[in-house]
Amino acid sequence: MIAATMLSCGLAAEVSAQTNSKFDSQFMSWPVYNGGDLELTVDNTGTHFRLWSPKAKEARVKLYDNGHTGEAYKTLPMKFDATTGTWSASVPEKLYGKFYTFQINSDGKWLKETPGVWAKAVGVNGDRAAIIDLDTTDPEGWAADKGPEVKSFNDVIVYEMHHRDMSMHPSSGIANKGKFLALTEEGTLSPQGLKTGIDHLKELGVTHVHILPSYDYNSVDELNLQNNTYNWGYDPLNYNAPEGSYSTNPSDPKARVREMKEMIKALHDAGIGVIMDVVYNHTAQNDDSNFELTAPGYYHRHWDDGRYSDASGCGNETASDLQQMRDYIINSTKYWADEYHIDGFRFDLMAIHDTETMNQVAAELKKVNPSIFVYGEGWTAGDSPLQPERRALKENVSKMQGIAVFSDDLRDAVKGHYTDAADRGFATGKPGLEETVKIGIVAATDHPQVDYKKGNNSKFPYAKSPEMIVNYVSCHDDLCLTDKLRKSMAGEPEENVLSAAKLAQTIVFTSQGTPFMFAGEEVFRDKKGVHNSYNSPDSINAIDWSNKAKYKDLFDYYKGLVAIRKAHPAFRMTTAADIAKNLKFDKIDTKKTHNLISYSLLNHANGDKWAEIKVVFNGSDKAQSVDIKKGDWLIVAQDGKISPTGALGRSQGGKTTLPPYSALILARE
Ligand code: CA
Repeated sequence: MIAATMLSCGLAAEVSAQTNSKFDSQFMSWPVYNGGDLELTVDNTGTHFRLWSPKAKEARVKLYDNGHTGEAYKTLPMKFDATTGTWSASVPEKLYGKFYTFQINSDGKWLKETPGVWAKAVGVNGDRAAIIDLDTTDPEGWAADKGPEVKSFNDVIVYEMHHRDMSMHPSSGIANKGKFLALTEEGTLSPQGLKTGIDHLKELGVTHVHILPSYDYNSVDELNLQNNTYNWGYDPLNYNAPEGSYSTNPSDPKARVREMKEMIKALHDAGIGVIMDVVYNHTAQNDDSNFELTAPGYYHRHWDDGRYSDASGCGNETASDLQQMRDYIINSTKYWADEYHIDGFRFDLMAIHDTETMNQVAAELKKVNPSIFVYGEGWTAGDSPLQPERRALKENVSKMQGIAVFSDDLRDAVKGHYTDAADRGFATGKPGLEETVKIGIVAATDHPQVDYKKGNNSKFPYAKSPEMIVNYVSCHDDLCLTDKLRKSMAGEPEENVLSAAKLAQTIVFTSQGTPFMFAGEEVFRDKKGVHNSYNSPDSINAIDWSNKAKYKDLFDYYKGLVAIRKAHPAFRMTTAADIAKNLKFDKIDTKKTHNLISYSLLNHANGDKWAEIKVVFNGSDKAQSVDIKKGDWLIVAQDGKISPTGALGRSQGGKTTLPPYSALILARE
């Protein structure tokens, strides 16, 4: 949710003596319990409730006929077990179709009712938990459903999308606009007859979609969907139930579960994996959050004086370093992987979590499905009581196993800094950023020809492996690529802006690491210049699919980038040693040129059928030449055109001129 932090540098210096604040140290002694029967189980002996709340004075369950209105038809007192810190109650019937809340007495005061923290189904707006038989929500063929197998995470091509962005615009031709079901519709077309929706994704060729938060979040009133309220969803309410506004009927607790599964099944049937954006780092509310209403104090971090700490910038942060919270994150992601067949998790503000938690998350998820890809934002949005060296920061990624982080190095260097709309980057003519771009090209691994001291963001090779890096030039945060280029290149013709867009994305797709793109950029989508569009209306956020015909050349180029990356393992080397050995930068005379990078992928890198691939970027607003080794080269990309098979023609090498803002890719067989 946050673009990057200014904290990136120099964190190692400020290490406090303790993990927790003085205030939080009281929670270390609480009993923990993470059995699979937390909160609700239904079996042949009835319906059973078990709430973890070690310090409550009393606890009770309220049963309802309705998910939203009416009084409780029954209140069940709960019994405490000091060993597990849990409160239990049972009834002999299976209460399918009913709803419930918990209520605890904390220090003599009854708190507000809460659906708890483990509600797997909820009524409208997530106020009450629902009792449903999850098996009845499985679409046909669900037992055999699975996502794509992933051998190396660098084989993944991520497409980040919001449900409403993809389908709300009239030009999408999609019936279930803004819903999970949008991506189950085949044969949808733009007004010009070009593919949209899931067919568009198949045509583009991406391997995974990354869906913005799709658990139940707080900000959209599910009782008033006609208002068409838009939100990114970084305000978590119920972590283990889908968001109601994406279902066709938020008042039917089964609908959101079933429809999300149908979306996942449709994508899996298309060979596309589904990555979920997860926001365990904070809750939408403080005292009124489900965490606080079940176990006051425990799940959030605090400063010494008991105030909420706020590394999320949203009012609070959670305490992954405490066992019950750590296990909660692990069990919740495992639940999504198990029940919904989710193929990956993108951790929002991951550095609020500790490295140990993230290691355990990745290890546990691998047991469910070794193809699950875990990555996150390796930064926080404010200071935290958690010691910097324990934070799952970008700089600490090599302390973790099976976790990747976003490279803000490449992002800011290629298109210009995110904090200044007018700032240009390597791809738009700003000099001096070559070394930072090279850090991205080698996926922040140790490389003999990359001088990290000259890096703008990071000053050392923080990734032990290219599988630890996600490269991108834009995402939902900040100005999208089109807007950023238009603003920073103000006064230049659109032709140049389109050229720069192609160049920027060529750098991402040819770099080592995992490429990541923001939905709609392949059709030159914009957000009308709005950078923080988290609650902007659909008129700002929805993708206009008429653009696909208008910018057909750009779409074809993106399709080519995806295809060439998939066909050529040289762009997806799996170890830092391979990259150091097989990726060689050419000497560039920086006195005569600027914004020029040239390198080769050699030795049939990573089993590539091509012996050598030459990649050259000219980020200057002027044409510039490079001297290509004599030989028989296939032309793969030149002058804004791309052919994954190298069918653009042949070159004998020698002096070769690149137009302004362009990439050249050649290959020797
Ligand atoms: Ca909601």
